[in-house]
Amino acid sequence: MGILLANGQLLDEFGKLIKKDVLVEANRIVRIAERIEPDGHEQIDLDGLFLSAGLIDMHVHLREPGFEEKETIATGADAAVRGGFTTVACMPNTRPVIDNVETVQYILQQAKAAKKARVLPYGAITVRQLGRELTDFAALKETGIAGVTDDGVGVQTSGMMKQAMLRAKEWGLPVIAHCEDESLLPGGAALHDGEVAARHGLPGIPSESESIHVGRDILLAEQTGVHYHVCHISAKESVRLVRDGKRAGVNVTAEVTPHHLLLCDEDIPDSLDARWKMNPPLRSRADRAALLAGLKDGTIDIIATDHAPHTEAEKANSIDRAPFGIVGLETAFPLLYTYLVLSGELTLAELIDKMTAKPARLFGLPYGRLAEGEVADLVAIDLEKERAIDPDSFASKGRNTPFAGWKCKGWPMLTMVDGEVVWRQS
Ligand SMILES: [Zn+2]
Repeated sequence: MGILLANGQLLDEFGKLIKKDVLVEANRIVRIAERIEPDGHEQIDLDGLFLSAGLIDMHVHLREPGFEEKETIATGADAAVRGGFTTVACMPNTRPVIDNVETVQYILQQAKAAKKARVLPYGAITVRQLGRELTDFAALKETGIAGVTDDGVGVQTSGMMKQAMLRAKEWGLPVIAHCEDESLLPGGAALHDGEVAARHGLPGIPSESESIHVGRDILLAEQTGVHYHVCHISAKESVRLVRDGKRAGVNVTAEVTPHHLLLCDEDIPDSLDARWKMNPPLRSRADRAALLAGLKDGTIDIIATDHAPHTEAEKANSIDRAPFGIVGLETAFPLLYTYLVLSGELTLAELIDKMTAKPARLFGLPYGRLAEGEVADLVAIDLEKERAIDPDSFASKGRNTPFAGWKCKGWPMLTMVDGEVVWRQS
């Protein structure tokens, strides 16, 4: 007995939507055909909804352990499946930091108990993310980490990054880098160092605080041969460096967030609401254009949300005092579908590739493909009905988004993980 998902619209190899039935048995897609007889299977009529492989987000913050008032693994995994994500990779800047086997095990257990999205923890590069001493990559890998990263902070010294890459290469782990040179950061900077910060008389975060690390790390990745992945790329110079690195044959990949693709610093309201404060910051219009061009030409490989929930009280602070970060899991697909696909910047097939098959391939995950024999991670999406983003409806504890009120199509309606329906729009 299986589950028959009938009357969905699937992308074919030419990027066209065609009506197909999909049969799921145990945790696998066993058959895809124009018509499959119900034969006693549980039947779900998708009634023309778009059916895709489940989305994969390689960069989220689930805040547990240590910051459960912002998010828990259960609330984050619930937000994920409501956003169409079936696999998310969570960052180690928790308390304790994910720099030890017990914390990795704890996260895997909590995720299993939540029975929502699959959660892959990253391990920290350095103990307590202090940049002084490498963690035990071998033990962390054996426990099930997806890679190593000190996201939240950059690895400040070149020597430490080189050691990390050598060891990561040895253990077959990717190095995922938050690129930020603290020696280039003025204290209290919250916005991109551009016209908007200048107009408000605020110190700015310069682009080179990111791109210096990107350039340094590409040279180190060339030497060490490690898979080096740039987190939340934001500056046009960083895009250029990744493009040059790829041309030179370096194993470098990069991700971009929906907010950096859709917004720039000019969009920040004069009220300087802290819901517009994230790290890296929204940069200039030219940076945003370079990110989109980089995504289109394959320089930037994937899209990741950098989902970063905070409490409302924290975000109610002034922009210099509030923490960095916005939520993204429940709005990423509708925003990107509406403002990049319907606007003609990307095709639906390109967007889906950058949120499913491509991240799976980059990180060696056995998910992200809608085909016979593959793991049944699926999402059914309504591409027609329009509704406005309402933070009050989020499953995430975070309400911190600059996109409240934006009208979007492309809302997930049903999500299946490992052959089980884990969420359905009621
Ligand atoms: Zn992050």
